[in-house]
Amino acid sequence: MLALVDANNMYVSCERVFSPRLRGRPVVVLSSNDGACIARSNEAKALGVKMAQPWFQVRHLEKTQGLIAVSANFELYGDMSSRMMAIEARYAPRQEIYSIDESFLDFDGVRGDLVALCRDMRAAIWREVGLPTCVGLGPTKTLAKFANHVAKEAERKPGSYPRHLAQVCNVGAIDRPALEELFAATEVGDIWGIGRRISAKLNESGIRTVRELAHSDAAMLRKQFSVVLEKTLLELRGVSCMALDDQPEGRQQILVSRSFGKAVTSIDGIVEAVSEFAARAAEKLRQQGSMASAVNVFFTTSPFRKNDRQHEANVTIPLVRPTADTRHLVGAAAGAVHRLFRPGFSYAKAGVMLMDLQAAGVQQAELDLVGDVEPGSVDTVPAKSSNQAKLMAAMDTLNRRFGRDAVRIASQTAVSNGAETRSWSVRQERRTPRYTTRWAEMPWVKC
Ligand SMILES: [Mg+2]
Repeated sequence: MLALVDANNMYVSCERVFSPRLRGRPVVVLSSNDGACIARSNEAKALGVKMAQPWFQVRHLEKTQGLIAVSANFELYGDMSSRMMAIEARYAPRQEIYSIDESFLDFDGVRGDLVALCRDMRAAIWREVGLPTCVGLGPTKTLAKFANHVAKEAERKPGSYPRHLAQVCNVGAIDRPALEELFAATEVGDIWGIGRRISAKLNESGIRTVRELAHSDAAMLRKQFSVVLEKTLLELRGVSCMALDDQPEGRQQILVSRSFGKAVTSIDGIVEAVSEFAARAAEKLRQQGSMASAVNVFFTTSPFRKNDRQHEANVTIPLVRPTADTRHLVGAAAGAVHRLFRPGFSYAKAGVMLMDLQAAGVQQAELDLVGDVEPGSVDTVPAKSSNQAKLMAAMDTLNRRFGRDAVRIASQTAVSNGAETRSWSVRQERRTPRYTTRWAEMPWVKC
């Protein structure tokens, strides 16, 4: 039996843990540069705020309806997510972390009442990290996702599904006629993997509810739609077509890019931003145990500012040897900026992508054919490579322990002069403190 555990309105719920004033109120979380609503509380949904709706369109609700907006605080959400995932992992032998707030658990071999176990797990997550969750159980991933949908809707919209299925729903324990009823009450678009386009097409061919889909002909679906939809159908019938992936492959490339909070016109500003992005990317690279063989760097003006002169710089730099060393990756990226920067432009966005990744362990000891590299060129020094790895590990440990950027490459704050807020910083005027990852922002309790 599989379970899909999902936090309700994750970002809003994380904010509510530390700001009780947000509870029971309509709340939205804004994307970087405070542009659009990327998360909504149930109360905000009820006011009609749509997913990804631009903030300026709903801003008036602040005055009229008491809508509260906060800037996205991804450092907080990421940390709360890892805490939640760790609790879930205690309850099942295998876990696939599917997104920041969802994981599949495989209860294969676990005996006893799984619904009771999942209620315990929900209570533990609530008690230990303060996040509300819903759990769906089913014999396949698609059915577990479906059960989760039922659990969530039954709680959020009384009357949509039977009340006793709220919060934790096990479709594996429901008899056939009752399951058919749940299927009949659900539109095909609510099924995992069926997007707006496919559901419109299904509707055209007369398939509106999940029940109608489940009774469709598999061969017809494959022919008229895709193998993917056929698999969805089989999964709805209880035939597992998607395995649990508890050891996901590392990413093939790592991208860190941001739109600037205000235009950057100086080369030092671009160097600072690009150094920061390369350092962040390098951290992620080491986390997944990889090395990069090439670095792509880009920085560009805004195509939306039609009156500005436009320039887009984009270059890929192959590295002499694959590396995970922040100093080399930042050096390569900053070098590219020095070659491509053109004065007189208002740059709006930049990014660094690490490419051609390989596992750090498989790097072969090699002859030092390029031992005499000019100083300042992009290279790693094999004789010192184990020292480099140790240095990077020490840097990561210090940053984990004392907060991000406790140790950093100087060019990351070349312009900002060591200050935590960077010259190019993303606009986040309403960001709450990073309560769980920064000593200086820890909540205070006065008693
Ligand atoms: Mg969720």
